[in-house]
Amino acid sequence: MARPLWFVKLLKKTFPNRSLIAKATNVPLIGGLVDKIFFEGDDVIYLPKDSVAQKTIQIGRKLDKPEEITLPSEIVHHFIEKANKHWIMNSCICRDAATCKDYPIDYGCLFMGEAVDDINPHLGRLVTKEEAHDYVKKCREAGLVHLIGRNKLDAQWLGVSPGDKLLTVCNCCPCCCLWKMLPDLNPEIGRKITKMSGVEVIVTDACVGCGTCSEENVCFVNAISLIDGKAVISAECRGCGRCVEVCPEQAIELTINNPEFISESIDRVSSVVDVE
Ligand code: SF4
Ligand code: SF4
Ligand code: SF4
Repeated sequence: MARPLWFVKLLKKTFPNRSLIAKATNVPLIGGLVDKIFFEGDDVIYLPKDSVAQKTIQIGRKLDKPEEITLPSEIVHHFIEKANKHWIMNSCICRDAATCKDYPIDYGCLFMGEAVDDINPHLGRLVTKEEAHDYVKKCREAGLVHLIGRNKLDAQWLGVSPGDKLLTVCNCCPCCCLWKMLPDLNPEIGRKITKMSGVEVIVTDACVGCGTCSEENVCFVNAISLIDGKAVISAECRGCGRCVEVCPEQAIELTINNPEFISESIDRVSSVVDVE
C-alpha cells in the first residue's frame, strides 16, 4: 500500500540515526531480520562517474579518443529505454532530511517498472523516457553519481510491490546519501551494494600524502586513510571515482578491466528486476 506523507516525514526524522541503526545490524538476530525484510534479493551496482571513466584507463589501456570510450551511464540509459514506466521523486529525501548544502535537494531517485504505479503520487511524478534520459544527465552534471539495481528497502518505504518490478536509480552525493551507512552495516548486507564489474582503484607512487582525498565528503564510505604518508584505499571502496577527481597529483587511478562491463551489469540488473 502506498505510504502516506506522514510516514515519509517520520522516516526522514530517523536519518540522523542511520549510522546507529546500521550498526545494530551487526547483532546477528537483528542483522538477519533486517536483511530479510529490507535487503533480500538485492543487487545494486555503484557506477563510476562518467567524467572519471572518460579520462582514465579503460579495459586495461589508455584510449586516445575519449569519445570512443564506453561510459558507465550507458547502463542507466539502457534501462530507461527498456522500461515501461518511469517515475521521478519530487526531491531527494536523503538530502532533504540532512538539509544538504552542496548538492541539489530536488534531484532524487528515478524509479522504473510496473511497481511505480503504487507510489504515493504526492511524492513524485510519472515521466516520459525522454524526460528520464534528460533527468539523469542533469543529475550527473550536478555532480551526483548513479547507483542502479534492485533495492528492497525502496519497495518497503514506498509501500509498493512486487519488489522485482521496481528498479532504483539513486543519484547520490558523498555527504548525505543513505549509503554512507555502508561501512556500519552488517557486511552480509553491505556486500549487496557493489563496485561495477572490472573496476579497480589504486593509489600510485605519485601520492605525496597531502590528505585531500581523505577529507570529509570525498569518499562516501570512508575507504581512504593516510598510512605512513600515503593514501591507502580499503576494501570498502565502491569505485565511484570521486577521489580520482580531487587528487591534485593525479595519483589515484581507476581502471575498468572488464571489456564486457556494460553487458554484464545489464545482465546482473535484469536478473533481479523486470522493468518491462
Ligand atoms: S538514495 Fe540517493 S537519490 Fe535516493 S533519496 Fe537518497 S541520496 Fe537521494
Ligand atoms: S589526494 Fe592524491 S596526493 Fe593527496 S593523499 Fe590523496 S592520493 Fe595522495
Ligand atoms: S575510494 Fe571512495 S571515493 Fe575513491 S573510488 Fe572508492 S568509493 Fe569512491
